[in-house]
Amino acid sequence: MFFNRDDKKEAAVLPMLPLRDIVLFPHEVRPLYVGREKSIAALKEAMAKKGADGKAWLLLAAQKKAKTNDPAPDELFQFATLGQVVQLLPLPDGTVKVLVEGVARARISRFVPHDPFFLCEFERVVEEPTKGVELEALIRAVQATFKAYVELNKRIAPELQQQVATIDDPSRLSDTIAIHLPFKSVSDKQAMLELESPVKRLEKLYELMQGEIEILKAEKRIKSRVKKQMERTQREYFLNEQMQAIQRELGDKDDGGKSELQELDDKLKAKKMPKEAQLKVKKEIKKLKMMGPMSAEATVVRNYIDWVLSLPWGEETKDKLDITEAEGVLNADHYGLKKVKERILEYLAVQQLVGKMKGPILCFVGPPGVGKTSLGRSIARSLGRKFVRIALGGVRDEAEIRGHRRTYIGAMPGKIVQSLKKAESSNPVILLDEIDKMSSDFRGDPSSALLEVLDPEQNHTFNDHYLDLDYDLSKVMFICTANSLHTIPQPLQDRMEVIRLAGYTEEEKLAIARRYLVPKQKEANGLADVEVKLTDLSIRTVIRRYTREAGVRNLERELAGVFRKLARESLKNGKSAVMVDRKRVMKLLGTPKVPQDKKEKTNQVGIVNGLAVTDAGGEVLVAEATTMPGKGKLVVTGMLRDMMKESGQAAVTYVRSKAKRLGIDDKFFEQNDMHIHFPGGVSKDGNSAGVTMTTALVSAITRIPVRCDVAMTGEITLRGRVGAIGGLKEKCLAAHRLGIKTVLVPRENKKDLREIPKKVRKALRIVLVDYVDEVLREALVLEKPADFAKLLPEGGAAPVPM
Ligand code: ADP
Repeated sequence: MFFNRDDKKEAAVLPMLPLRDIVLFPHEVRPLYVGREKSIAALKEAMAKKGADGKAWLLLAAQKKAKTNDPAPDELFQFATLGQVVQLLPLPDGTVKVLVEGVARARISRFVPHDPFFLCEFERVVEEPTKGVELEALIRAVQATFKAYVELNKRIAPELQQQVATIDDPSRLSDTIAIHLPFKSVSDKQAMLELESPVKRLEKLYELMQGEIEILKAEKRIKSRVKKQMERTQREYFLNEQMQAIQRELGDKDDGGKSELQELDDKLKAKKMPKEAQLKVKKEIKKLKMMGPMSAEATVVRNYIDWVLSLPWGEETKDKLDITEAEGVLNADHYGLKKVKERILEYLAVQQLVGKMKGPILCFVGPPGVGKTSLGRSIARSLGRKFVRIALGGVRDEAEIRGHRRTYIGAMPGKIVQSLKKAESSNPVILLDEIDKMSSDFRGDPSSALLEVLDPEQNHTFNDHYLDLDYDLSKVMFICTANSLHTIPQPLQDRMEVIRLAGYTEEEKLAIARRYLVPKQKEANGLADVEVKLTDLSIRTVIRRYTREAGVRNLERELAGVFRKLARESLKNGKSAVMVDRKRVMKLLGTPKVPQDKKEKTNQVGIVNGLAVTDAGGEVLVAEATTMPGKGKLVVTGMLRDMMKESGQAAVTYVRSKAKRLGIDDKFFEQNDMHIHFPGGVSKDGNSAGVTMTTALVSAITRIPVRCDVAMTGEITLRGRVGAIGGLKEKCLAAHRLGIKTVLVPRENKKDLREIPKKVRKALRIVLVDYVDEVLREALVLEKPADFAKLLPEGGAAPVPM
């Protein structure tokens, strides 16, 4: 027997088991796996020397360093635990599994030299019994804290808490709790063991547990946050995977595994964009990468990137700089138009010499179908540039030119940027078609946007609202077309070099049909390999009876109709040679669309052929005048605008002032009203109908008929002078078309006579006039010319020598 448990005084000796990494508390039951020979020997000794109570006692001391295999006495803590073996189980490999129970604290006082294990003299530590309200409070606080701790810590079985709640011995309570608390290190645990006072131990445990609880709470918070985060990312990942699977099912496989975003990056690298644009697109791609691919926002961003990347940035076609070749192309595509072609070639030559697209913009002005658009196309072809046409007819919103800001839903770039995309080159020929049909309203003025586009000083940094990037338009060649100039704002006109195309004579139309339109339509209708002969008269019939126009657009359409019908017949009858004469054409095209001749065939009172220019070219406008009982009032009708109405007023004033000389009774104007009417549903304006209205009035009042083969044009002054007019060429062409013999023209327009095609000049008798009197003399059918001559002291007009 080594010691007497109950005798405090007697020094006792027991074998000692060194513990690695373990501190055994009293009341703790713990299995140990013992392998060291020294330790097994100590165990054996303890078993051999069981106490009177039949228990095997021993001391258990922690090693200061776990690694030490054979610790010297100073490598062991002197404050140890007195314990007993509950169970011992030798294992087949020679080691021993032992279940020990801590009983009390013990202080080792001496290591007794002994081999092969440690024998130690020790003193059992006796705790002073304590009591009091404070202790009670401490115990309760510790128990409650332990409860809270157990609730937070899943690793401790909840029954333990119930068990602890029943312990009221402070020493036991503290040790039981200490067993289950996590200590940072063996030395911390050892320090707890070495605290002899149970109160101190409880206080220390209380502090420890509070700390632990805080940590556990924080841990819980973090865990739940992380869990939420995980759930979200997992969800997104899962949905994305699912979406990709759906897309794969739908057949949108990503080819070669390259993602679309990667492709955008590659595209961006391949484009020669200015820095600013590049940075912007880069930013947008980055933005896109962070977005859900199917979100509405992503579609908008994606669209924008696609637009910017689809534009030609500095990708140019090389100009063909050969004026002779250009001339060849223009001639090959267009008949006649000698002056126009010359002007175009001069323009191109200057551009070439200067080496820049600076200077005025070409603007072709003329009625429809005279080849304005197709001239533009030919210019592009002769320069080897791409060609795009922008139809401006009906454009009334600035945004159509410049685009909408990206904040608008469904925003798009404007027509300029769109056409650049279509052209796929940054130096195309852009044809701004029908620039005079553009209008403006509250949505902004498109012409101001165009002004910037056409201004060589500004257009190298053209800013489309949608792109919000500067684009260089300075290399683009702009060409405009218009039917008339007067609706084009002046600032725009100032930027343009106007080239007028007046319209064609019948001869020219015939030639155009023969050389261009017939071969074109023949091929287009699949009759290239069939011999089709159209007589001149058949084409003239189409021109006269099926079209009424300055250009050749309808002529082309009617000829297309002829060939379509021939194609159908050839399917039925086989591809044999066809001969088309006047009769055949009329059979193919059906009832003529134009009455044979619109001009009056007989000389009548009050009916005068006037000449006018409308958007469709020159026209013969008939004026009708009549008188009726009244009070000298004048009515002018026929969709007239102000200028023309005023012209009518001037005519009346002139006739009244010259009443005497014209043989009109003074009282006539007190007793009669007058009415001048222009039949036909087109609106008319201008002052060139002055002489027409005057003649009609004089004829109506004097009852002298007007020659039906005379047509006239000219402004009048109150004193009876005839003033200059515009569009002489168009007017003469129209008169010629309708078979008028004599045309009365203001002498002030003499300089314009040169523009009239020779053939027309020869066919017409053109009379230059200074005064209305001369007009009247030419136009009225004077039964007694001698009498009338008295009234016209200025004398007759002589025909102009050609
Ligand atoms: P616009 O733009 O003036 O209204 P287009 O250019 O559309 O007229 O011309 C209509 C058609 O007439 C086109 O097929 C064009 O080739 C043809 N055309 C017009 N003038 C000529 C011409 N002088 N020579 C050959 N074809 C012509």
